Amino acid sequence: MNKGRLIVFSAPSGCGKGTMLSEILKDERFCCSVSATTRKPREGEIDGVNYYFLEKEDFEQRIADGKFLEYACYCDNYYGTLISEVDDRINAGKNVILEIEVQGAMKIREIRPDALFIFIAPPSVQELRRRLHKRGTEADEVIEKRVAEAEKELSFSSKYDYVIVNDALEDAISDFFAVIRAEELKVS
Ligand code: 5GP
Repeated sequence: MNKGRLIVFSAPSGCGKGTMLSEILKDERFCCSVSATTRKPREGEIDGVNYYFLEKEDFEQRIADGKFLEYACYCDNYYGTLISEVDDRINAGKNVILEIEVQGAMKIREIRPDALFIFIAPPSVQELRRRLHKRGTEADEVIEKRVAEAEKELSFSSKYDYVIVNDALEDAISDFFAVIRAEELKVS
């Protein structure tokens, strides 16, 4: 059986990446790694589905035990990809998507150069702020922190293999599948 691919999928908070992913995951060739985080669950988020929600000490113990492929600190919380979420699925032929921020993505670039790196950008920073307010899951000062973080992250987009602007959802999804198809057809 052919191995699957590791796909790194980064987007600043509020770029519509969650909606894009739920569409992409309808295709059985893809699955998403469930990350661990020390962030508190948002309403409706389920442990083991959206994230493994861990206490800081537990997260740090797993770092010490070498359980993470990568981890990063983002807006005062740890986020990390567990090795156990990735390799078995790739060996079983699945394309495993890591939905991670840029620091973690750059670490994966070093250790897994064969991964595919896709950055999702908002049409503009103003639109990003508007979407975060509309989502209403964070307080105003957290939104401003996330917008500032997004501006920093946007400057990393040139380090990815592809940048997809998520203006209209359907177009962004068809761009994603166009990228996958192009990669499948690439002469290796
Ligand atoms: P949120 O708190 O909105 O769920 O996620 C905040 C940021 O953390 C997002 O940019 C998301 O992509 C990133 N993130 C989620 N899981 C991981 C992970 O395992 N590793 C890293 N480096 N970033 C992650």
